[in-house]
Amino acid sequence: MFTTSSHCGCAATRIRIALLLTLGVVLACHPLAAAEKAEKPPMETAIVAAGCFWGVEDAFAKTPGVSSAVSGYIGGTVANPTYRQVCAGTTGHAEAVLVTYDPKVIRYTQILDVFWNIHNPTEVNRQGPDAGTQYRTAIFPVNDAQKADAAQSMAVAQRYFDIPIATRMEPTATFYSAEDYHQDYMATNGGQCHTRRRGIQIVTAKLDLTRDEWKARLTPEQFQVLRDHGTERPHGDQCSTWKGRKTGFARCAGCQLELFDLTKQFDSGTGWPSFTTAVPGRLTEIVDRSMGMSRTEVRCYRCDGHLGHVFDDGPGPNGKRYCINGVALSFAE
Ligand SMILES: [Zn+2]
Repeated sequence: MFTTSSHCGCAATRIRIALLLTLGVVLACHPLAAAEKAEKPPMETAIVAAGCFWGVEDAFAKTPGVSSAVSGYIGGTVANPTYRQVCAGTTGHAEAVLVTYDPKVIRYTQILDVFWNIHNPTEVNRQGPDAGTQYRTAIFPVNDAQKADAAQSMAVAQRYFDIPIATRMEPTATFYSAEDYHQDYMATNGGQCHTRRRGIQIVTAKLDLTRDEWKARLTPEQFQVLRDHGTERPHGDQCSTWKGRKTGFARCAGCQLELFDLTKQFDSGTGWPSFTTAVPGRLTEIVDRSMGMSRTEVRCYRCDGHLGHVFDDGPGPNGKRYCINGVALSFAE
């Protein structure tokens, strides 16, 4: 954790845990039979472990389409474990987050895109300074469809790392909610966490999927814009959604890469989301001579998805106006 607040034990505890692991104390992970009950349709659930749950919960809580993110423990041998027990490293639990989401807004594979983006999946039993099996990277698919999607998602993610991804695919087990003071921790207390590190390799690694793979991930409207260079009608629902947002980042709806700081938005009067600048390094520009015009198209650096165009008549100091299809964006603070 990059925070001055106390966290899962002091450094000495972490060192002891690391020593125990070095000595080969392997903690068994008992596959419990009781599955976490999914909420009634249409909401679905996903469970992932990606290091300290404070930051992971915070990232998912801010992900569009996610209705709740709960910090908890899963994959251990003791029922109703306490934070103290889990931190001792003897129960086999992982700090994890139970994500409840609307599959009409965000798909399981996109939940996993967020997962890959917010931690380093090549780290074994640690994330940053937090060490121990409780900080392991793991996915807990809640059904066979998620299991298949997770396997494919992991195979795609592996393309971007030179060393093996350490993420474990673990059986669904009972998810125990963490103590109340761990819930909404980052929102309540602030601070920094490993999930907010920049430079995690996969964030800027290319995401290169087939058309069929994209079709499986995106809504038809998103596919038409992002993959077939379509243009949504102006003043659509996506624009009104955007207008209500003042802080955070607009992400690529295809790969979840943060593209635009929402404090850089302005009302251009065009009926499309408009920004004066983009997050550095997140866009590629291509000369577009279609429709008898010469325009500069902007695409997502990571997935090469079509976003919109950039013009030289903007109001900011650099004179740029990024005119973006709202359906190509998702929003996160
Ligand atoms: Zn993208």
